[in-house]
Amino acid sequence: MDMLAQWLLVGAAVGIGWALGRWGQGSVEKRGASSRMQVPVGIQFTFENYSDEAIDKYVEALEVERATLPMHLSIASHFRSKGEVNRAILIHQHLLASPRLDTASRERATFELARDYMSAGLFDRAEALLKQLEKSPDWGKESLQLLLEIYQDEKEWGEAKQAALKLDYRRDPITQKRLAHYCCEQADLLLQQGNIVDARRILREALGYDRSCVRVTFTVAQIHMNNGDYASALGVLHRVEDQDVRFLPEVIGPVVECYRKLGQEEKLQQYLGGLLERAHYSRLLIAYADSLRLTQGDRVALSFMADQLGRHISVRGLDYFLQLQILSSPPEERIRLEAIRRLTQKLLETRHPYLCENCGYSGSLLLWLCPSCKSWETIKPVQGIEGH
Ligand SMILES: [Zn+2]
Repeated sequence: MDMLAQWLLVGAAVGIGWALGRWGQGSVEKRGASSRMQVPVGIQFTFENYSDEAIDKYVEALEVERATLPMHLSIASHFRSKGEVNRAILIHQHLLASPRLDTASRERATFELARDYMSAGLFDRAEALLKQLEKSPDWGKESLQLLLEIYQDEKEWGEAKQAALKLDYRRDPITQKRLAHYCCEQADLLLQQGNIVDARRILREALGYDRSCVRVTFTVAQIHMNNGDYASALGVLHRVEDQDVRFLPEVIGPVVECYRKLGQEEKLQQYLGGLLERAHYSRLLIAYADSLRLTQGDRVALSFMADQLGRHISVRGLDYFLQLQILSSPPEERIRLEAIRRLTQKLLETRHPYLCENCGYSGSLLLWLCPSCKSWETIKPVQGIEGH
């Protein structure tokens, strides 16, 4: 097929594709501005049959005006979705160079060019364009959301906070959580520099955005523990059960350390016993059994674990039970139990005890920002047989 024939067919193809896109526009437009930028299925299909050169020539020849804008944008979006970002950039730049575009169309093209730059990893250029759109009634919110993504990836927490504050964060719990974690990131950096006063000020600010932020609790408790103030650390750590009970397994270690530093084994046992009435995490069972060992001996601890495992079995709990059993068994019995324990140890090594409740990402560390779906505080300790 010669170039002229291809060129004409591309025109017809785009027309058909655009018509198909418009046919389904009623439902598409309800999904918001970003959705309007999607390439219509018809256009994607019809593009596949023509050379890129033919499409380029068609785009160059297509006049830039309000009526043809959706075609330009659709073709550019098609290229970006194929990974050909340079072509998408050229089309959007071509649009913006035209003096015939009205303000609304210019803003739309600017937003799409910013998305191109983000896809190409040119974050400085994307940031400059998105800042131009911050106050746009149509594109302001989406531009700020993309700015947040850029600042998060670049770990520019102060800038991220400023962008989030420009959103309607008081009505949006997700943005409130983000703000709290941006503060926590800033506090972590200050603590690394030894600036405890400013770190504590920013942690208080974080609680102003999200009172249920357990990360603030952990960080403040750690500051108290570093200062040797274990009573204050305990006062803070006890808040976690009200903030988010799913993070309790993470609290057990520091709580045990604080009570023991204060020489309050009995109070520790009372506290853990109270928690056991509400939750049955294996870490909690083990901490309670450990305390029983110290105060009442191995037999009582073993009996407690045997009773609890009958009702709440877990790999970690079973491993601890075997450990206790091995210590109090004769040598020939010990060999058999150690063989079983090698299995529980292997299971504990290979499992992923943290899971993102938003996207299902799993890992061996508690991360505050999910590396997969970029959500804050959605990775939680796993519960149940393989959990904590
Ligand atoms: Zn996730």
